[in-house]
Amino acid sequence: MDHEVEKSEYVIDIRSLSFQYGTKTVLENINLQVQKGSFLGLVGPNGSGKSTLIKCILGLLQPNKGDIKLFGQPINKFNHWEKIGFVSQKANSFNTGFPASVFEVVSMGLFRKVGLFRFLTKQHKEKVREAIALVGMTDYLKQNIGELSGGQQQRVFIARALVSDPELLILDEPTVGVDIQSANNFYEMLSELNQKGITLLLVTHDVAAMTEKVSAVACLNKQLHFHGNTNDFQENHGLSAFHGQEVHLLTHNHGHGGQ
Ligand code: ADP
Repeated sequence: MDHEVEKSEYVIDIRSLSFQYGTKTVLENINLQVQKGSFLGLVGPNGSGKSTLIKCILGLLQPNKGDIKLFGQPINKFNHWEKIGFVSQKANSFNTGFPASVFEVVSMGLFRKVGLFRFLTKQHKEKVREAIALVGMTDYLKQNIGELSGGQQQRVFIARALVSDPELLILDEPTVGVDIQSANNFYEMLSELNQKGITLLLVTHDVAAMTEKVSAVACLNKQLHFHGNTNDFQENHGLSAFHGQEVHLLTHNHGHGGQ
């Protein structure tokens, strides 16, 4: 089915990618295409190379071998980074003393467009409110970010990434430290964003929680072991076939740790 899709329909197109830290090979011969409008879950145990792959996609690391295209353009020529929003796990680290409201934090997502010292126009403010509404945080507009729960903070960071209208949103382990109920609501929200047309790449080891929401799964452990739709993943390859044990355990621990 993928063969019929025009190349430019791939938001991310990775061919024969390998990456080493020094002499240690962390990614080996990765081929991965992310179709426009899809919701791809990238799963794998800790240390399997997920973050490294994301850093390659964001142009922060240079692969030793292979090619990456973003929106049909080779990554070294790609100059539309505003199309890509990124929310990392580490975003979730504001403590209670951080002096910024939800509105202010989300406004920061416009600085690239607006400039640091220029005032927000009425339209900008409207955009900020829209992004906050998209993640269901309108009731917390004026609240200090540090007073929110981990799950709520993550929603705010998503809003900050959304405020500049990205076409692709990459999320690296967004539910670490978030309780199960909040994580489920969070995935539900991602699903809604996806239905609005945003392509999503969700990196996680939380397989159990995300398989219901994503449209495709890619399974990484140095090499890409599986890439296909969610049903095939659950029925055939997914949890039991290769590194399933470890993923199961991690999921289990994560669930308990999060409660
Ligand atoms: P994941 O995100 O799946 O947990 P990572 O991409 O962070 O995996 O790491 C993959 C492997 O690369 C791990 O064995 C890790 O120890 C190693 N690694 C990660 N970052 C570095 C680095 N800066 N230098 C050397 N090795 C690294």
